[in-house]
Amino acid sequence: MPRTIWDELVDNRDPADARRIAILDRLGILEAGAERAFDDVVQLAGRLFGVHNAAVTFVTGDRIVMKALRGHGVRSSPRERSFSNLVIERDDALVIEDALQDERVAASAVVTGDPHVRFFACVPIYSGGERLGALALFDPQPRSISADDLEILRTLARHVDRLLELRWFRALTVEPSQQQVDELAGQVHSLADFDRVLNHRAHPAWILDTVTGQILAVNDSAVETYGWSRDELLTKTLEDIRPAADRSAIRALLATRSFEAGSRRRWRHVRANGTEFTVQAHSAPVPIEGTEWRLAVMTDLSTRLYGRSALVHAATHDALTGLANRAAFLEQLNHHLDHRDGFTSVLLLDIDAFKHVNATAGHASADQLLASVGARLVCDVRATDAVARVGGDEFAVLCRHTDEHEALALARRLTELLRRPCLVDGREYHLTVSIGVAVSSGGCADGERLLGDAELALRSARRAGLGQIGVFDATLRREAMDQAQTVQELQRALQRAEFVVHYQPIVDLFGSDVHLEALVRWQHPERGLLAPAAFLDIATEAGLLSRIGSLVLREVAAMAVRMRADGMPTRVAFNLPAAQLNESFVMELLGVAGETGLDPSQLIVEVTESAFAQNATAAPAARRLRRLGVGMSIDDFGTGYSSIDRLRTLEVDALKLDRSFVAQVLTVQGRSLAGAVLHLAEAIGVPVVAEGVETMDELEVVRELGCRYVQGYLFARPMPEADVRAALRRGFDICVD
Ligand code: C2E
Ligand code: CA
Ligand code: CA
Repeated sequence: MPRTIWDELVDNRDPADARRIAILDRLGILEAGAERAFDDVVQLAGRLFGVHNAAVTFVTGDRIVMKALRGHGVRSSPRERSFSNLVIERDDALVIEDALQDERVAASAVVTGDPHVRFFACVPIYSGGERLGALALFDPQPRSISADDLEILRTLARHVDRLLELRWFRALTVEPSQQQVDELAGQVHSLADFDRVLNHRAHPAWILDTVTGQILAVNDSAVETYGWSRDELLTKTLEDIRPAADRSAIRALLATRSFEAGSRRRWRHVRANGTEFTVQAHSAPVPIEGTEWRLAVMTDLSTRLYGRSALVHAATHDALTGLANRAAFLEQLNHHLDHRDGFTSVLLLDIDAFKHVNATAGHASADQLLASVGARLVCDVRATDAVARVGGDEFAVLCRHTDEHEALALARRLTELLRRPCLVDGREYHLTVSIGVAVSSGGCADGERLLGDAELALRSARRAGLGQIGVFDATLRREAMDQAQTVQELQRALQRAEFVVHYQPIVDLFGSDVHLEALVRWQHPERGLLAPAAFLDIATEAGLLSRIGSLVLREVAAMAVRMRADGMPTRVAFNLPAAQLNESFVMELLGVAGETGLDPSQLIVEVTESAFAQNATAAPAARRLRRLGVGMSIDDFGTGYSSIDRLRTLEVDALKLDRSFVAQVLTVQGRSLAGAVLHLAEAIGVPVVAEGVETMDELEVVRELGCRYVQGYLFARPMPEADVRAALRRGFDICVD
């Protein structure tokens, strides 16, 4: 009898099992029904690999639960002898190309009987430090799978990890609703029920005797949070866990039994070590054995309110966060630089798009967010580092005896840390920070200058996108001077109408339809014709981008009207910066259409994926544009993170596969990467434009991969209106066969 693959497993249904169930429970995986987000992944995996079945599975005790399933199959099956269980226990991907040829599994029931699995590929899914389940593909036909394919499968599994990570954080910090607490209370009919229902919950919870205030049962999280052992905690009354000063209030509450009025209240509690913290408590009655006891579920607000109590050093400290202010920071920095040789680093952090948060969330919430960012920073830097709030949404960290390498490592850690969602007033905020790093190697450095260098580094980070890290070097200072000059020149250029628009054709491989993309150029009096790379970032930083955009839009509208009058009713795509996809753009467009006679359906708006992530007004504005007949393409597709769902509901017309993908399609890796992105597009049924196609070979590959439209030097470069008209008359018939 051959040893089966299951025999190889060490037969200790390990302690990991209990932890895994606890985590799944905390994440709410065991409760909810089918999961839309997981579903997307499974559908995509199924299509990518062309297999009959795909599933996201989780292991719970002795069963495997399918959270998302493509193809027929059961939603739950015994864990014993299940294929995905193997992956979980071995902590490794598993590929079985033909089960019948593989003696480890050939005799198993799912192979010999229904569903007659022949091919199987599966990778583990992780969260909370545990393997929780697996992303599995299976098929009744044998197949082979390349190393590249397996890499793609792993990438998809990591996507599931990320979805879980998000839930994990939510589970820990989100306050439960009163309804949830009422429902939990409804499931508790004995103290044993309490353990079953509440022990694995993220929030501290207990049962109280409302007459005496005695704590009758506690869960693990309460033991962790309060710091007493379970037995000790069970000897406490409500009074014992309140600061002495608040005890009379508790006595009054118990005396009047006015719990109903206080079913959701904030309290100060003390931990075993004497520290005080604030909790939000929800409570509900639990009728056990005829007595009215009460279930209370606490949310620890201490991190949220961090800094509120630190309003002490008024002159040197920032009242909001309790951190040192700019003046105090500079003093510390100068003092340190004067007295110490060796490396000193300054990190300057700026919250991306905080203006937007301020505008949409209101000042009170924005303040709380700043306070919690400050609190996170303080918790995560070393004790010798000093943290300050040096501007509205700018924080600085002084790192003593720290060279560039170490400073960068810290910057990376902080970027990750601050990326975790922040919860304020029941709303979740996703912030990213940009960081500038400047390092002094000793000698006669001065603090102002070092902080100034960090500012320049921060600016270079911001230019690279959101959540980036920049390091100072001398060229940045020279650039800063050049830039100041360019800004002046740009202002002049706006007045003197030095901007012109070039048009690049986008060719339909399946039809004769050609449309154009409008690309702005600057006709600089000394430097000649400049491409956007030479000035757009500077214009953005100087707040001039929307004025340039307005000029381009007017020109594009006028040109589209001229073309139509001449019997060339071509559609023209206009690049709209993510931040400007909002109602005021819709109004502007309506105005321009009124003035020029533009038919909005001749216009296509190109926005990047980030538009929808950054900007809450983007989706409604996009819908308004659609109703006006304006087309919409997603620019630079594949370089950001898209919600597949959102693209589907917005009904975008095209996805523009970024040039960075096209430039690599001739390599094996590049081709499969582009293929994965294209499958994503295919999954939601949106045609793809390949950007930047320069050679016949590239054209061949993108066509094979399913791109319908192509744009690139192979067909035509961006050119002035007159040239594009001539080219349109001639046609773009490159022979592709
Ligand atoms: P984009 O939207 O990705 O535009 C495509 C860029 O790829 C254009 O660069 C185009 O000239 C270039 N390109 C086209 N075919 C090829 C090719 O075969 N090979 C290579 N290497 N490049 C190719 P361009 O005109 O320099 O524009 C750069 C970026 O500037 C654009 O990228 C767009 O993000 C931005 N931009 C251009 N015009 C405007 C505008 O009017 N408003 C705004 N907000 N942004 C604009
Ligand atoms: Ca574009
Ligand atoms: Ca692009």
